Amino acid sequence: MIYSTFEVFNKREIAFNMKKKINILIVASLVATLILSGIQYYLMNNTYQLKKESFVKEAHKHVNFLNLNERIDVWNDAYLERLRQLVKEYQEQKITKKDVLLNFKKSLDSANKRFTPYYKEQLNKKELSYHIEYQEEISNIVFLNEKEFDTIFKTNDNEGILLYGKSLPYNKRISINTGRWQSESNSIDDEKELDATITNIVLTIETERFIYIPDWEKIVIKRMLLLLILAIISIITVIGLFVYALKSYIKQKKITDIKTDFINNMSHEFNTPLAVLNIATKTLQQEKVVQGTKEYIHTIETIDRQNIRLQKLLQQVVNNAVGIDASNLNKEAIILENYLQIIVKDFKLKNDVIDIKESYISIESQIQLDKFYINTVVTNVLNNAVKYGGKHIEIKTNVIDGYFIIEIEDDGIGIPRKKQKLIFDKFYRIDSGDIHNTKGLGLGLYYVQEIMKAHGGMVNVKSTLDVGTSIILKLPI
Ligand code: ATP
Ligand code: MG
Repeated sequence: MIYSTFEVFNKREIAFNMKKKINILIVASLVATLILSGIQYYLMNNTYQLKKESFVKEAHKHVNFLNLNERIDVWNDAYLERLRQLVKEYQEQKITKKDVLLNFKKSLDSANKRFTPYYKEQLNKKELSYHIEYQEEISNIVFLNEKEFDTIFKTNDNEGILLYGKSLPYNKRISINTGRWQSESNSIDDEKELDATITNIVLTIETERFIYIPDWEKIVIKRMLLLLILAIISIITVIGLFVYALKSYIKQKKITDIKTDFINNMSHEFNTPLAVLNIATKTLQQEKVVQGTKEYIHTIETIDRQNIRLQKLLQQVVNNAVGIDASNLNKEAIILENYLQIIVKDFKLKNDVIDIKESYISIESQIQLDKFYINTVVTNVLNNAVKYGGKHIEIKTNVIDGYFIIEIEDDGIGIPRKKQKLIFDKFYRIDSGDIHNTKGLGLGLYYVQEIMKAHGGMVNVKSTLDVGTSIILKLPI
């Protein structure tokens, strides 16, 4: 028998293997994307650091004019002189260390006031697209007092004595260089007196220079914007390709599964008539069955019926392969509600246990339709209504917005919301687990939709699970 060969397809196993494969694929592509992103991040970070370094170097160059600057040297000499005087007073124990610093700091203000506009002016000449802020501070003052070092000031990391520029944020400023000055001077005290003493003052001063560029991160990122954009685009492209590949793989898999399903269903359908035909021919081969007897006629009738069924099945498969479009239609003008009554009457003959209610509105006007195909449409929908649990069927017609509407409502098992869109797909059947309780090829509604489209109409479904289904056919008048 045909069917048993196809039973070898274990659907559950296939579905499980497919899920496993897809999961492996998803994990693999995720890992690959993560690694790729990691590498991209590493490269970007490196580039960022390099760009930052070269930017700092560039900025450093722009403030080079502060080195060996005659004007600044004059200011430097002035503050050194002031410091020497104060240290001398300290040495003579006229003032304390604290006073030295206090007075010294006061004297620096005037030097800085002269420096600031000068710095601005020099920098403006360079016409930079960004601003460089500058700070120079004293980090250490040591005084050699009779062969003994006396520290007057030592920075505690972040609080130096501001010389020039302005106090920059401690953790953002960038140190560009440090300096160390030795200053030695002799001064003669009170030149008029005879016992004047010669004081030798030796000072060591350490300074440090810093720059700070507000929003330098933004400037660096701007400089590598193109690179960044390309990196992001490439990652997005890779992710997009992964998603696309996975999606089409899943789609292909689904199509293959549907085809397998179709073959299973079809063999199911062909199986019964073939089996019956097999028995019927065996019966006829028996010698005791004589032509003309009741049994003989009955068997011949059975063969005939099964033969018709096989032909119908084959026709369904062939039709489906060929497809229907408007050019295949043999249209003629008919009064639809009259024709509908004939179809339903035929249907009632075969399904006499089903309660079928009809309510037609009469438009009497003629519609151009292919009678054969419209019959197929209505019969397919009615067959489904009975097949999927309908005991009461209601057929209503209406005319809305130039469309003739046929609504066929049943009280069967209903269709879950999620599956409603799928039932018109080729070969689609809703299965509960592995077993179809009803036979079918999943072609009925697909066929309905194709015929409706060929007529310029459409088909919709409204359904509530466990309550019933309503199929709405719309045909243009
Ligand atoms: P056939 O090709 O023999 O018609 P089929 O009836 O399974 O096979 P369709 O008519 O295309 O295929 O229907 C697709 C699926 O939609 C069915 O398998 C069924 O699950 C669901 N369905 C269709 N009509 C109804 C209905 N009236 N009530 C509940 N479910 C329905
Ligand atoms: Mg059907």
